[in-house]
Amino acid sequence: MRPHLATLNLPKDVGEMSEECIFCKIASGEVPSDMLYRDKQVFAIRDIRPQAPKHLLILPVEHIPSIADVTHSQAPLIVRMITVANELAAKEGIAERGYRLAINCRREGGQAVPHLHIHLLGGKQLSGRLG
Ligand code: 5GP
Ligand code: ZN
Repeated sequence: MRPHLATLNLPKDVGEMSEECIFCKIASGEVPSDMLYRDKQVFAIRDIRPQAPKHLLILPVEHIPSIADVTHSQAPLIVRMITVANELAAKEGIAERGYRLAINCRREGGQAVPHLHIHLLGGKQLSGRLG
């Protein structure tokens, strides 16, 4: 795990940020949060309205609106988000039993906050329904 947010140099080393975005405000420290993980590219928090015993969000520091906006050059960032999710699943004690990573995309995909995030859900038997 990385040092506390306040010791990091933000936002000048992290690319674009959207002023009205709640997740950008959490990334920059403007809105306090229970930062579970933080590096230059990726951070993770607990979902404010958990839908499972374990419900974390893994996000890029950079404001990328949705998974539909990801380009080839961002492949390493997406892999990093997935590996952070896997590491947090292990840390939360749900890796062996299993968990779900979910990405909602835009309005009909159920995306409420337009800053890319992976939901990490687990700690119970999840429904097989996806739609
Ligand atoms: P989406 O529907 O966009 O895929 O998921 C957005 C998620 O962000 C929801 O599960 C919602 O509960 C969570 N969320 C919205 N605002 C906040 C916030 O201010 N803090 C945290 N930790 N989670 C939030
Ligand atoms: Zn944002």
